[in-house]
Amino acid sequence: MAHAKPPAPQATAWYTLPPEEALTALQSDPAEGLSPETAAARARQYGLNEILEGKSRSRLSILVAQFGDFMIMLLIGAAILSGIIGNIEDTAVILAIVILNAVVGFLQEVRAANAVAALRRMTAPTATVLRGGHPQTLPATALVPGDLVLLEAGNAVPADLRLLEIAGLQMGEAALTGESTPVLKQIPASPPGTLLPERLCMAYKGTLVLSGRGRGVVTATGMETELGKIAAMLEGAPPGRTPLQLRLAQFGRQIATAALVICALIFITGLLRGEAPLLMLLTALSLAVAAIPEALPGVVTVLLALGASQMAQAKALVRRLPAVETLGSVTTICSDKTGTLTLNDMQLIEVWTPSGPLTATALHQDTHATSELLRAILLCNDSTLDETGTLLGDPTETALWHAATAAGFDVPAERAHWPRVSERQFDSERRRMTTLHQKDGRLVSYTKGAPEAVVPLCTTIPGAQPADANVIMQQAAAMAANGLRVLAIARKPHATPSPSPAALETELEFLGLAGLLDPPRPEAAIAVATCRQAGIRPVMITGDHPATARAIARALGIPDDGINGAAVLTGHDLQTMDDNALRRHVARTNIYARVDPAQKIRIVTALQSNGEIVAMTGDGVNDAPALARADIGVAMGKGGTDVAREAASLVLLDDNFATIVAAVREGRRIYDNIRKFVRFVVACNSAEIWAIFLAPFFSLPMPLLPIQILWINLVTDGLPGLALAAEPAEADIMSRPPRPPREGLFAGGMGFEVIWTGLIMAAITLLTQAAAIRAQDTHWQTMVFTVLTLVQMWQVMAIRSSHISLFQQGLLSNKKLLGAVLLTFFLQLAVIYTPGLNQVFNAQPLTLAELALAIGASSLIFILLETVKWVRRRQAGHPPLG
Ligand code: ATP
Repeated sequence: MAHAKPPAPQATAWYTLPPEEALTALQSDPAEGLSPETAAARARQYGLNEILEGKSRSRLSILVAQFGDFMIMLLIGAAILSGIIGNIEDTAVILAIVILNAVVGFLQEVRAANAVAALRRMTAPTATVLRGGHPQTLPATALVPGDLVLLEAGNAVPADLRLLEIAGLQMGEAALTGESTPVLKQIPASPPGTLLPERLCMAYKGTLVLSGRGRGVVTATGMETELGKIAAMLEGAPPGRTPLQLRLAQFGRQIATAALVICALIFITGLLRGEAPLLMLLTALSLAVAAIPEALPGVVTVLLALGASQMAQAKALVRRLPAVETLGSVTTICSDKTGTLTLNDMQLIEVWTPSGPLTATALHQDTHATSELLRAILLCNDSTLDETGTLLGDPTETALWHAATAAGFDVPAERAHWPRVSERQFDSERRRMTTLHQKDGRLVSYTKGAPEAVVPLCTTIPGAQPADANVIMQQAAAMAANGLRVLAIARKPHATPSPSPAALETELEFLGLAGLLDPPRPEAAIAVATCRQAGIRPVMITGDHPATARAIARALGIPDDGINGAAVLTGHDLQTMDDNALRRHVARTNIYARVDPAQKIRIVTALQSNGEIVAMTGDGVNDAPALARADIGVAMGKGGTDVAREAASLVLLDDNFATIVAAVREGRRIYDNIRKFVRFVVACNSAEIWAIFLAPFFSLPMPLLPIQILWINLVTDGLPGLALAAEPAEADIMSRPPRPPREGLFAGGMGFEVIWTGLIMAAITLLTQAAAIRAQDTHWQTMVFTVLTLVQMWQVMAIRSSHISLFQQGLLSNKKLLGAVLLTFFLQLAVIYTPGLNQVFNAQPLTLAELALAIGASSLIFILLETVKWVRRRQAGHPPLG
């Protein structure tokens, strides 16, 4: 393969070129693709195949933005003014604190951005590429112009492609063109000037393969793709915010207005009292900077993003950040059965023919009576061996391969004797598949599928005992009631040389029933129990037989009594029900069987109109609309398609139901911690405001200097607040009901609690001030400074739980928080006791007695909050612990 530079892809109208010309222009080989060396050279030339979203902000711009806040600029201005007048020291300290504040904000933002970027990398799609003649799965970012990409149903197109070969390739291009009807692709080139939606020989990055297969050569990657060009145009659009962030931003604005009014009052009353105007200006501004929780939405991003990276470690990948929030409110989890609730580890354990039943062991011994049935299950079967000898394919089919091998068949040899000449593929709506085979001029088709989908097509039922369709269906139901997936197997010899597709599936000869066991996942049963305890309803939706579904549901502990309703609803029942009837039924039914993926969307919608918050799993292309519709769409990482993943907000790396429940638990924990953080910050800020605002009303002098206010704000909000993100889940987190999604952040009495906690902390501060002044203690201001810092540390320790005592939780159960609190305490001591530094902060070294008094006074808030929790526990009937 030549290393010469291929033409700049963007300069060519690829849709006007026939396939061969496109390949020549891109110097790619139609059979081999690019050689690894050429691909490596082009990767260096073209870079990664990725869309740079909103041009990720540079570190510098994030840092600069920290100073962009209006209040901060005012504060800097006032500080400089105070320097000009002569108080250089104050100016320097204020500027230093402002810088430190900015650094803390910067680090938080960078951390959140890193966590989000890491998540994006983890959810990055892969592509199947032919390089050096070998198909391989690569991260889509590694594609270069000239690469040959193989497409199949369920794939997201990884780059812009000129199609070379197609078989019924239908694309969903809504993401690019807005057109929702599927587009059937073709190979001939289009004339110059054809608009993008009509360029039928191209497949564009970001569009989806709905059905069929194809092969194409990469014409453009990354920002050169059509999607990239659109992304470049949209650049600078603000990133979406989560509902919680929007609510917080709104709340922040209200607080800001209130804080500004109070700060203005403080400024004016200060002037009226005759305080120095510049001092009052600095005080009011410092207070405003400290009190306005403008960082709240940002910190929430950090908490959500950190939570999402923890979930990723637990095998739940969050694709959209708001999902972390919504997870905590989920009331119903609708899950597929196969692979999510079961192990997807199928085994053929029972075979029934009209001549009698056969166990798997008997099957091994008897190759004669059942040889045609075994030939059927190995020929009408899409599983294949790869070069390493590993069996690839759907577990239902690999189980059949194994059974045929165990019964003595050489499957590859048998397939070579009976080559497949045509087929009707399996899909979840038809629930059957048929393949046509030829040997020595004889043509035979084999059909396998759900008994309801196959038995009615059978007109011949050979066997020792008289059997009709009813007997067969009863037998199938009996096998299903034992939890088996049952397949009916049939065949048809053909006299005509090329039978029509319709002729393949009529007048079949029945061969037998195959019963496959797919054991429930042991951890799923535990997760189902956890769900029910947490007020979440687990619902099974499956394409399988109602009896199989019910047996598995029972084994897992999913209630199958349907209290006053149907225990199991089938796809057929759904068809006969209007939306109102369905709404009534979904309130009670936990098991859905023989449901088409297309019907899932009706189930989600009905549940949602009953007020449920629904998580729904899915893996196929047809599941995508239901996943997009659900409050939390959950796609499978191992077994699922790209299309399902694109539509989902959560991807399970292990396809396991228990992982969804673990993610819900994590979602609840994160939301709890966000609430704790908001509670802490708002109470602290209001304490600072109240203390300074109320002091004059008690004839007390200004309790704090501007730099002291800024210092308190810096050390209290930053570290301990963030350490709350590491707070472990409370013990009862999965035994309380889901949080109503529209419930405000301050629900459950938290608003009132924030107000009184703030007032009490201010009262403790002012009482200390009054007592110290009365005792003519010259260190009174340092006392106030220390008490106001420490009271917040005591508060944060007490609010780790809203009802369990700190001692019951264990001091060490959040080491980060304990560390942050101790660090803040020692920093405060450093500010008071370090000569020079204390001058800067206008603080004096406290005597031991004064320090003890400050610690003791500030601990009052802890005692009070713990007492309130104790009373609450008693009222709730819990044993008064701790
Ligand atoms: P779930 O919805 O619980 O994940 P599923 O997706 O595995 O179940 P489908 O794959 O839609 O369900 O299968 C529906 C029915 O189609 C099965 O009960 C079975 O009878 C039949 N079936 C499944 N796989 C095959 C196959 N490979 N060949 C023929 N029939 C099949």
